Amino acid sequence: MREDYGFTQDQIDIQLMTRDFIRKELPWERIKECDEKSETPMDIVKKAAEMGLTSITLPESIGGGGMGEVTNSLVLEEIAYQDIGFATVIGANGLAYTPINLFGTQEQKEMFGKYIVDGGLAAFALTEADAGSDVANARTTAVKEGDEWVINGTKAFITNGGLADVYVVFAVTTPGGGTRGMSCFIVERNRPGISIGAEEDKLGIRLSNTTEVVFDNVRVPDDHLVGKEGQGFKIAMMTFDITRPAGVGAACCGAMKSCIDKCLEYAATRMTFGQPILQNQSIQFMIADMEIQYEASRALAYKAASMIDDGNINGAISSASKTMSSDALVKIAEDAIQIFGGNGYSKEYPIEIIYRNAKIGQLFEGTNQVQRMVIVKNLLKAAGMM
Ligand SMILES: Cc1cc2nc3c(=O)[nH]c(=O)nc-3n(C[C@H](O)[C@H](O)[C@H](O)COP(=O)(O)OP(=O)(O)OC[C@H]3O[C@@H](n4cnc5c(N)ncnc54)[C@H](O)[C@@H]3O)c2cc1C
Repeated sequence: MREDYGFTQDQIDIQLMTRDFIRKELPWERIKECDEKSETPMDIVKKAAEMGLTSITLPESIGGGGMGEVTNSLVLEEIAYQDIGFATVIGANGLAYTPINLFGTQEQKEMFGKYIVDGGLAAFALTEADAGSDVANARTTAVKEGDEWVINGTKAFITNGGLADVYVVFAVTTPGGGTRGMSCFIVERNRPGISIGAEEDKLGIRLSNTTEVVFDNVRVPDDHLVGKEGQGFKIAMMTFDITRPAGVGAACCGAMKSCIDKCLEYAATRMTFGQPILQNQSIQFMIADMEIQYEASRALAYKAASMIDDGNINGAISSASKTMSSDALVKIAEDAIQIFGGNGYSKEYPIEIIYRNAKIGQLFEGTNQVQRMVIVKNLLKAAGMM
């Protein structure tokens, strides 16, 4: 990959270390096996944790990497080059920690962060069966009883749901309160009343674990409330403004680059009519269009991540990066199948998995329709029209 975004030597070292690690530890044969079984390779999660990759954005003061979103983007991009589902597993730790980083006390940062720093996984539990885009329609409740909160409800589509040691959970504390009626809690996996629903049998990103998480009279002490009561919606939205560029924007770039490399290699050797298919301008133009989309997406992803690291968080830019990259990846993965012809449709070649994986970027961390709503809202605000 071209290194033209002013990365520091440390960032380039981490990028190259991640590249070596993931390409060696997660080869295509292993990806294929885990995809078939819909299984998260926990041995590789463990090794990634030992290298500090699963805690890269946590503060150094609690044992994390102390890195920002540019470095996080480099890591997730490299992992997604191999498999965007595995990048989702690792990225979910950063997603889950971000609310605590933004609004948590030092004690909460240490309490939550310890699970991750010790090599565990975390999960961000916001979505419910009837509350995806319409988050404020959540039905999970948290009721104060003495100095405890009692949580009841079912979260759906939770990444790392069945594997996490700790959850950040969004629950309604003021019924009917809409976006101001929700609060954010730290909930450890070993609390009585938590059970894991069936794992989703998904189209793609099958190396990531996605489940329901059920809370049945789960009690947490008052010091597990993150931020103030009623701030949950705000915390969740501010979290996405930070996590979208790395977790989706940059990760999709990794998968795009993987398609481009694989297409070049395949097209150079696949012979038709006595010459490699790469000799045809129609194939070259498809690859050129992939490169255009990839470079543009990457520029936007690193712009968004740099702005976050500079403390200049702009929800519209983060949403634009997420949308641009995920839309581009779907198109590129589809064209990659075209270049591979029948082989692209076969499970004998990696393109088929990348194609199935690609779709998720347009859906999670808010659908791309929701991103467009965020972008327009930001534009209207900036223009003083809202
Ligand atoms: C594999 C996977 C992993 C996930 N991981 C997590 C996780 O870790 N934590 C978590 O909390 N959630 C997670 N999710 C949930 C994900 O964020 C939601 O699926 C997503 O936000 C969409 O919500 P929904 O599925 O309810 O779709 P809906 O909200 O029902 O939307 C359906 C369609 O309608 C469109 N739509 C809805 N409202 C509008 C509108 N007002 N204007 C225009 N179009 C609209 C949507 O864009 C979409 O196309 C995950 C989902 C998947 C599939």
